[in-house]
Amino acid sequence: MIVGGVAGGASAAARLRRLGEDDEIIMFEKGPDVSFSNCCLPYHLSGQIKKAEDLVLMNPKIFKGQYNIDARTNSEVISIDRANKAIEVKDLVTGKTYNESYDKLILSPGARAIVPPIPGIEKVNVFTVKNVVDIDKLNRFIHEVKPSRITVIGGGFIGIEVMENLIEAGHQVSLVEALPQVLSQFDYDMVQILHKEIMDNGVELVVGDKVTAFDTNKVMLESGKEIESEVIVMSIGIRPETTLAEQAGIKLGKTGAIKVDPNFLTNDADIYAVGDAIEVYNILTQDSFKLALAGPALKQARAVADHIHGKPINNTGYIGSSVVKVFNYNAAATGLNEKALEGLNIEYDWVEIIPYDKVGIMPHSEALGFKVIFEKPTGRVLGAQAIGHGNVDKRVDVIATAIKFGATVDNLRDLELCYAPPFGTGKDAINFAGYVASNILHGSFKQVSMSDVRELVENKAYILDVREIYEYEAGHIKNAIHIPLSQLRDRVSEIPKDVPVYVHCRSGQRSYNAVLALQAKGYTQVFNVSGGFLGVCANEYFNDKTLGRDPIVTEYDLK
Ligand code: FAD
Repeated sequence: MIVGGVAGGASAAARLRRLGEDDEIIMFEKGPDVSFSNCCLPYHLSGQIKKAEDLVLMNPKIFKGQYNIDARTNSEVISIDRANKAIEVKDLVTGKTYNESYDKLILSPGARAIVPPIPGIEKVNVFTVKNVVDIDKLNRFIHEVKPSRITVIGGGFIGIEVMENLIEAGHQVSLVEALPQVLSQFDYDMVQILHKEIMDNGVELVVGDKVTAFDTNKVMLESGKEIESEVIVMSIGIRPETTLAEQAGIKLGKTGAIKVDPNFLTNDADIYAVGDAIEVYNILTQDSFKLALAGPALKQARAVADHIHGKPINNTGYIGSSVVKVFNYNAAATGLNEKALEGLNIEYDWVEIIPYDKVGIMPHSEALGFKVIFEKPTGRVLGAQAIGHGNVDKRVDVIATAIKFGATVDNLRDLELCYAPPFGTGKDAINFAGYVASNILHGSFKQVSMSDVRELVENKAYILDVREIYEYEAGHIKNAIHIPLSQLRDRVSEIPKDVPVYVHCRSGQRSYNAVLALQAKGYTQVFNVSGGFLGVCANEYFNDKTLGRDPIVTEYDLK
């Protein structure tokens, strides 16, 4: 018996059938669709997926015909009698209830969209995006009322995808996020370029401000700001669907999700659980966490079917890898970010580089913002984030693989990766990150983050710009001293030895050469500004524009 269709449930059912032709498999889904693409739901709003029906992947007839699986839709499992190994099912069409017995039960009930009881919520049109019914309802409502503005609350990946698709459909959109940034899988410095991208695409982006109340067609924020909006999409997060399990005495873990062992068994030897409803083991933090993503749910479901059929599961634990499109940018992340590491007792360092994603003279060669985080002193890779116009997922997937196999930054340096000019560079961004990280790990040079530069400027630190004159003239950090790398060795006497020297170029590569040259000349307090002028501009732009603060650069370079 399987509770819940869609990702985990349907996947478990199909694998069970492949492993056992005679198994009796019944899957209960409380919604009308037993298998649909959750991940494609937002794309219906822009019309990229034209009909809501196209989101539905399988129906009970196909399940029966092709797999001999009894998939029952509009059928909610309302209780589990563990002693008698039976479940009670409510037919949501007739209202009748009935019992079924099981040998093995798989819980894959997913998660519920959180809709908090914010004062006045009954006065606004609130929607969530969780299934085909939701998206169809939202899309129809939008077409009917033709709203002057739609507000998306929550800047996680679902909120971002909904926002983008609404913009593509030609709507006025506000995105409100309580945290100071969208997409918390990325660090604050990395995500600033996405804030700019969202703003540049006409979205009213409000970060660091909370919705405190609603009034008729109005969203009220903690800051006092009000947004007139006829449609509200609530995407502030999800809560594991645990009610059924809890009522049956299935234990929850400390995250509030269902606790499972490495074989995805609950505290009942005949009840498994998978997907968004469970907590999993994080190999980096060595602790449990919630990981609401499709890939893990599908793989856990397959593993459970294997275990039921006596095949061993080699559960290697999880690190969390995800990718999202934000208008013209792609953004991918894996493992731990700095924010996650703050609360942990792990010593770490990081590299932030902005290499080209392909050979620079090739068409469509673009700057790639790339951050790799590693443990000290082991050099073990802990996480990565990549944001750019190209195939950022490739870079992050390689790092995700490396993390799973316990790689160090020295291993990244040596990876043999595919190369031809339309695809990458001879020394790929990953190798490059490995070189820089290895140099930092082994103490070859010191760095500061692009996000430290504002404070350096305010404190009148000695900032040395080693770009060429035409680059400096096009825009520079306000009180930077300009000595191009090509003149550095002749003019080194102009640079003081008794104060820290913060060196930058456009992306951090030429300044690294300058740092080494200065170190060789006896300078001991030299720091490379990671990410260079490009990084500083990307990091400053959104806050400069939205907070109305004084820029620290004369002109931005955001190419
Ligand atoms: P689900 O797939 O949600 O299935 C659970 C099902 O159980 C539901 O249909 C529910 O109705 C049913 N159910 C619950 N309780 C009962 C009951 N008592 N009786 C009967 N049925 C019940 N992940 C990614 O990795 N990449 C993406 O790009 C991505 N995009 C997403 C976009 C959106 C809009 C959404 C909503 C999710 C997205 N996800 C994405 C997340 C991914 O879809 C989930 O992690 C995955 O579906 C979880 O699988 P699951 O089986 O645990 O839950």
